[in-house]
Amino acid sequence: MNQAKPASARVFCIANQKGGVGKTTTAINLAAGLAAHKQRVLLVDLDPQGNATMGSGIDKSALACNLYQVLIGEATVKQAAVPAEAGGYDVLPANRELAGAEIDLVQMEDREQQLRHALQAVAGDYDFVLIDCPPTLSLLTLNGLAAAHGVIIPMQCEYFALEGLSDLVNTIKRVHRNLNADLRIIGLLRVMFDPRVTLQQQVSAQLESHFGDKVFSTIVPRNVRLAEAPSHGVPGVVYDRSSRGAKAYLDFGAEMIKRVRQLD
Ligand code: ATP
Ligand code: MG
Repeated sequence: MNQAKPASARVFCIANQKGGVGKTTTAINLAAGLAAHKQRVLLVDLDPQGNATMGSGIDKSALACNLYQVLIGEATVKQAAVPAEAGGYDVLPANRELAGAEIDLVQMEDREQQLRHALQAVAGDYDFVLIDCPPTLSLLTLNGLAAAHGVIIPMQCEYFALEGLSDLVNTIKRVHRNLNADLRIIGLLRVMFDPRVTLQQQVSAQLESHFGDKVFSTIVPRNVRLAEAPSHGVPGVVYDRSSRGAKAYLDFGAEMIKRVRQLD
């Protein structure tokens, strides 16, 4: 296939303020899945936990500089980004230092727009920029949402998942009104799915009837290979390419490429 590449990167936040729902797993494996489909990808680790950094095989304690310096204007994205060799994408890494950015940013003018400004310099270098958000609706997350064209929301198909969704949707609406008129919800991604659990099937069907084509057709199964991969410092898509989890994220990469073409 010889598809024309967009001149400027598409930026997506992987967000859900609920903890442990599969944001980082999705960010890492979508990055690797898109790279496997020949896309140029930058993965931005917006979480001081640094899980996307470590899971990409980059030692968060041995960084020359990281996203913190970028947000406070002491480094460029180009200076801070490092290649994730196994995954075939670049990472703008993070560690605990990033937690300090919350405090430094408060005193800055345009405090929610620092990531957006920093990413503009590399927009021509990538097809996709993926931002792994922390499980909060903090100033860091606002920087992510202000910088993005769209939000990908990973969620587990359980009862309380639907409740949490309304808080996130309201935040996205507020950001859309006040900070970033481009922002939209790209889709809900069902993750850690176990079709044997009746409740999960019911919630999944409910999501489809409420949100229609805002629900991605790819469903990521619960798959232990995806959970094992981070301790080896490689994406699940690379760790065991034939696993069901890897296949789902490769499919999701293809689905995202298709969605992006529809946005043009
Ligand atoms: P946090 O809110 O802390 O940032 P998160 O939303 O980024 O968490 P992950 O770290 O991606 O969530 O996932 C939480 C846990 O679930 C991890 O141990 C991860 O390995 C595991 N996990 C994620 N997706 C799957 C899956 N499809 N199958 C099995 N385990 C999974
Ligand atoms: Mg995470």
